[in-house]
Amino acid sequence: MVMGDLVTEVEVAVLGGGPGGYSAAFRCAELGLETVIVESSKRLGGACLYEGCIPSKALLHVAAVLGEAERAEEFGIDFGEARISLDPLRKWKTDRVVGKLSRGLASVAKAKGVQVIGGRGAFEDSRSIRVGGDEPQVVRFKHAVVAVGSLPVLPPGLALQSERVMDSTAALEVPDVPERLLVIGGGYIGLELGQVYAALGSRVTLVEMTDGLLPGADRDLVQPLARRCEKLFAAVHLKTKVAALTEVGDTIEATMEGQDSQAFDRVLVAVGRRAVTDSLGLETTKIKLADRGFVLVDEHCRTRDPHIYAVGDLTGEPMLAHRAMRQGRVAAECIAGRPSAFDNVAVPAVVFTDPEVAWCGVMEFQAQEAGRPVKVAKFSWAASGRAATLGRSDGLTKLIVDAATGRVLGVGITGPGAGELIAEAALAIETALTAEDLALTIHAHPTLSEGLMEAAESLLHGGDK
Ligand code: NAD
Repeated sequence: MVMGDLVTEVEVAVLGGGPGGYSAAFRCAELGLETVIVESSKRLGGACLYEGCIPSKALLHVAAVLGEAERAEEFGIDFGEARISLDPLRKWKTDRVVGKLSRGLASVAKAKGVQVIGGRGAFEDSRSIRVGGDEPQVVRFKHAVVAVGSLPVLPPGLALQSERVMDSTAALEVPDVPERLLVIGGGYIGLELGQVYAALGSRVTLVEMTDGLLPGADRDLVQPLARRCEKLFAAVHLKTKVAALTEVGDTIEATMEGQDSQAFDRVLVAVGRRAVTDSLGLETTKIKLADRGFVLVDEHCRTRDPHIYAVGDLTGEPMLAHRAMRQGRVAAECIAGRPSAFDNVAVPAVVFTDPEVAWCGVMEFQAQEAGRPVKVAKFSWAASGRAATLGRSDGLTKLIVDAATGRVLGVGITGPGAGELIAEAALAIETALTAEDLALTIHAHPTLSEGLMEAAESLLHGGDK
């Protein structure tokens, strides 16, 4: 510390104001701990609110409306060709959706007495953070929670300095609707934003280097989504890598391995995200990093430095906001001396595409890899009354239970609303329910939620496998 520095003394300093950070700070405040959040943008919400979950879901809602209008032709309703005005669309997304939530978070912080200090923070040692920017100061803390999140990865071959090459943040701004869009990466972001742009009218070519979309997800669940993408996109190239991107006039030429180069109006690079651990002064603390630069934490979200906790994307996969939020609350409770641990067995994953794909717990292939005896039931939505009324019989509900006890180990769902339906599965897994519990619980008819009950019944009554 230097003489003349403004020094703020607090019990808890949270570095980063995204879902992990604000959840930790709000819980600390509820538990009576004097807490500040150091956030470079001064606004709470993080990548989730400004560059990720929320704006992408707003745009996916727009895509879903366009998709539904198109499907309506099946039952005799023709809305004609959609006319899309980007200015009102962007305004709605930014003001009415993101802005509203942002203002909400600011008022929660105020109500809970959590001060937000605007500026980039970096550790000076295990007890203090130096904050730059407009409010320069040193924050001395008893405990800190690091929650600075992740950034999109831009591999050297794809890092072309051109506004036509976008990461997810740039793509969410919808600068225009390019006639030809190349999406590199068939993961969460590539599929979600690829579908948004396809719905808005772009001819989308998607390139994925592995042999299937959403590598790491169950193949049965991915199949209906892959079929939909084949229809929606101009082309899907699997087992393909983009070797180079070059700006030629108003276009980007992409050289794909084993193919002629092709011209596109814009390119979206969505090949993963990396933890943000540089320029944080971590070397002045006892924090240790693991593979891929993730911060090592225990089940209490404590780093190797006894004064510092870490939550969210910078602690590794799965990089999901809801995991970060839970970790944030655990860290806060541990700091307050409560017996709390991140011991959740199910972290639901949801890809908000059309159809949605959601899963949690142990998947069939993971049980096989672990040599764990399981029973598997698949309920096709072709047999669902509710799916028929929606014209969406392409869905699937898959249930994985322990072979000996019938305990629910995992659930996967593909279809509209899968992201909402998976909540029942997470509760079933977390509370150790069995297939019998699911089968004997009355699910309202006709609803898509019956799928899980039907799958469970088929296991009890000698169904599928
Ligand atoms: P991802 O890991 O989901 O997908 C990246 C994809 O790119 C993979 O399929 C990978 O095989 C492929 N790939 C990598 N290098 C490539 C190359 N050179 N050429 C072609 N393909 C290549 O990553 P993402 O889509 O960037 O998303 C990042 C993270 O953000 C996700 O892991 C997820 O945790 C989070 N996220 C979540 C949601 C959600 O919850 N709905 C939505 C968006 C992002």
